[in-house]
Amino acid sequence: MNFDPVFQQHLDALKSEGRYRHFADLERIAGKFPQALWRKSVDAAPKQVTIWCSNDYLGMGQHPKVLLAMQEALARYGAGAGGTRNISGTTHAHIELEMELAALHGKQAALLFTSGYISNQASLATLGKLLPGLIIFSDADNHNSLIEGIRQSGAEKRIFRHNDVAHLAELLESAPVNAPKLVVFESVYSMDGDIAPLAEIVDLAERYGAMTYLDEVHAVGMYGATGAGVAEELGLSHRLTIIEGTLGKAFGVMGGYITGSMAIVDAIRSSAAGFIFTTSLPPVLCAGALASIRHLRSSSVEREQQRERVAQVKAILTKAGMPIMKNKSHIVPLMVGDAACCRAITDYLIEEHSIYVQPINYPTVPRGTERIRITPLPMHTAEDINKLLNALLSGKHLAHGARVAAA
Ligand code: PLP
Repeated sequence: MNFDPVFQQHLDALKSEGRYRHFADLERIAGKFPQALWRKSVDAAPKQVTIWCSNDYLGMGQHPKVLLAMQEALARYGAGAGGTRNISGTTHAHIELEMELAALHGKQAALLFTSGYISNQASLATLGKLLPGLIIFSDADNHNSLIEGIRQSGAEKRIFRHNDVAHLAELLESAPVNAPKLVVFESVYSMDGDIAPLAEIVDLAERYGAMTYLDEVHAVGMYGATGAGVAEELGLSHRLTIIEGTLGKAFGVMGGYITGSMAIVDAIRSSAAGFIFTTSLPPVLCAGALASIRHLRSSSVEREQQRERVAQVKAILTKAGMPIMKNKSHIVPLMVGDAACCRAITDYLIEEHSIYVQPINYPTVPRGTERIRITPLPMHTAEDINKLLNALLSGKHLAHGARVAAA
């Protein structure tokens, strides 16, 4: 049987809605970030473009200390880890990095995973299995990795409206007093860039005897005096049960982790399928992440420069009347409200102005709220910012017909 026509039909539907995913063929130029080479097609001549949508928020993926640590680790350890953590895949680099992560968040222990996605999915799935009768309270805008982990946990799930503390209180109040409870939420929500009311959620969780699981993926490296995230900035780290993060965004490398008490981390280490049955992170990545974390624990220069750029971009686009969604974070969502218009604008920007931003469409965001998600970096210059503004202004007509979502 040939099922290709079925798959093709699915692809055609995505294309007709303007939601088909085109990956930009990029070659980051080491030492020149956010400059990269872009090829329109595999045999096209490369063209230099400026990236405006990277999650390597601080450019640590090209920091000399990180590159040196990785080069040294490659020479010392070789390429891959060569096994699961249990079967020859635990190197000294893994142990050192876990100790650093625990210290970063002020927790007793940390556990590494191959990505932030896997850390959420594997940890939450395991918590539900380890705690019979667990009820999980989940923010409505939680990332897919959290949703999948909760689904696989088999635990009962109650969804509270996004960042709505009163709704969470209502749900906690109506749950059986003696049931184990876990509140799962994020600090910085990556698409709208809004920040959770952490203190109120932690207060509530304590009042109802619930544990907390905080995803700080878009905040680690970026917020707090040592880059431990929003919980650190608000002095709340010690009141959260589990803090989860990634090594792939502001830390510029790859991998994910959880931190918490010795008992909870050890229990997840001993039972989580997504941790146990997979080859561990290459030691080269661990060494790079360690260098990045150590640097950002003692240096705020990158965070400060990035904050300045974010303020400049927000101010200049707002002044020009661009529909920017307001928030207090480093993410600048430029609302378009239509998938095809979003695509037309981003195609125009890269082809005519050598500016790369990715259109963000359903299912990453709800239909009608399609957007261009801009992430200013410390390395963007005043000239880069002006070019971005002028390019957006000259491509404004392409948004014609889009329902610009409320900014
Ligand atoms: N959690 C959130 C909120 C995310 O936005 C992402 C990825 O974008 C992840 C987890 C997954 O992290 P990683 O990219 O390290 O797999």
